Amino acid sequence: MLLTDPRVRAAYSEGAGIYRIVPAAVAIPQSTDEVVRLVTQAAASRQALIPRGAGSGMAGGNVGSDIIVDMSAGLPSLSVDPQRRLARAGASVTWAAVNDAARPYGLRLPPDPSSGAFATSGGMVSTNAAGPRTVHYGSVRKWIKALEIVEADGSVRILERGAGNQGRFTLTPDSRLLIPTRFPKTRKNSGGYALDRFVETGDEIDLFIGAEGTLGIVTDVHWRLDPIPADIAGAALGFADLDAMAEAVPYLVSLRPSAVELLDESLLRLLPDAPKVACLLLVEFERESAAAARGVVGDAVRGLKHSTVHVETAVNRAGLEQLWNVRRQASPALARLPPTQRSLQVIEDGCVPLDALGGYVAGLRATAARHGIPVAIFGHAGDGHVHVNALPDITRPGWRDALRRLFDDVTDVLVRLGGVPSGEHGVGRLRAGVLERFYGREVMELFRNVKRAYDPLTIFNPGVIIPATDWSPLDALKVGDDAAAIPADIATRLRDVERTAAWATPKLQLAR
Ligand SMILES: Cc1cc2nc3c(=O)[nH]c(=O)nc-3n(C[C@H](O)[C@H](O)[C@H](O)COP(=O)(O)OP(=O)(O)OC[C@H]3O[C@@H](n4cnc5c(N)ncnc54)[C@H](O)[C@@H]3O)c2cc1C
Repeated sequence: MLLTDPRVRAAYSEGAGIYRIVPAAVAIPQSTDEVVRLVTQAAASRQALIPRGAGSGMAGGNVGSDIIVDMSAGLPSLSVDPQRRLARAGASVTWAAVNDAARPYGLRLPPDPSSGAFATSGGMVSTNAAGPRTVHYGSVRKWIKALEIVEADGSVRILERGAGNQGRFTLTPDSRLLIPTRFPKTRKNSGGYALDRFVETGDEIDLFIGAEGTLGIVTDVHWRLDPIPADIAGAALGFADLDAMAEAVPYLVSLRPSAVELLDESLLRLLPDAPKVACLLLVEFERESAAAARGVVGDAVRGLKHSTVHVETAVNRAGLEQLWNVRRQASPALARLPPTQRSLQVIEDGCVPLDALGGYVAGLRATAARHGIPVAIFGHAGDGHVHVNALPDITRPGWRDALRRLFDDVTDVLVRLGGVPSGEHGVGRLRAGVLERFYGREVMELFRNVKRAYDPLTIFNPGVIIPATDWSPLDALKVGDDAAAIPADIATRLRDVERTAAWATPKLQLAR
């Protein structure tokens, strides 16, 4: 059941993100019963498990030196109940597959991660994934009705929305009062256990959503679905400076958009067809009629006529697709960078309160310039959530130290602005050591208590969310002279997977 061939282990040594860590072994369970057996063996042998979906997570929660449990193929069941607007998906089922099955009934899963073609149900639940439409529909948390999980003692349990808490972890009255005061007030958060939501709802399921494989293994997900809105329209709005963009965002959010996406000039300059502006906002409105969708685009354009320097509108789905093409050029443009300049995700997921968006982007630009590391900034402006690809020249002496300083300084900026280090990708290994700076010592102790309650033997994803004692975020990188040695042909294939976002490729195929 455990695969220990060095080529197989090498094929699982990388996910998206920055790390290369060769696992001790790989298991590919084909049923919930097989997951139970793996967990029972892990508890007996104290050999930890790293649950993994497609491996597209960016924070290093899907790699490590223990046993990788590849959940990307073995639990593929999928059924849709259109009357109840539910989809029941095994952990391996991708966002795209859920939506393909729901579409004939006029239904969809509204949060729309750009990685939907390959992100698995288990991975999306475990990172509390989100996407452009989260500005209106929330993250996946809101759309999960129930989860089947395998726990540390090998028991299989269903956690249901509205079912309350089964008592494995409870909060004292003092902690209940403390938590709302210590959680940052951002619109999105995938950083740590969602104790704020747990206090609000009392539902145990909220602890598991976003737990990054540290509390148990998700085997089945009951998704809530929503009708696909009838009409859609949108606009591309260009601004001459950051302040004008930052002022426009709350106005646009007040018009109930389904997406407000930012492309900063740091990214636009890499895209040949992009307008020459300091910032571009791509805005989408979903409405029940064409007239309503067009009407609100008109409101947006008129309301911002004094601050925009570039305006293009789209009145239907095809037009909007064309308008958004510029965003789709971003990944290929980054893949075309010279081999000496690597796109590394170390500060890629910060989220701040909406009124701090302009300050955050300015802080990012200044910090990156100070350390001599080019960056490409884009993201979900309507949620105050900004992705940043750091693009260091890895032939430059000292690039790694500069990258570490960038990581530290951007963390400072986020803390100062009341932000969180992850809006949707999670904490992983990368950010585990900075969580305490955002939440304080008492909440971090509560996080440790959650972990102890569900995983007393630490068999699930050690070092993720709760930092390892020797936490060092930029060790074990996949780039540089001291990257772990793996066969050259597998390293090349892993690089191709990364450049082409081919995360759906079965990893055993890479090892052949
Ligand atoms: C090109 C690209 C675009 C992206 N765009 C987005 C985006 O728009 N929005 C977004 O939110 N993310 C995005 N991501 C990040 C990533 O796709 C998401 O985090 C996704 O939810 C991860 O799913 P996965 O199946 O790849 O999980 P993995 O990366 O394999 O795992 C992610 C985490 O979940 C845990 N996990 C996985 N499966 C299980 C399970 N069955 N049980 C328990 N724990 C489990 C792992 O231990 C790990 O901690 C993007 C990534 C890429 C490469």
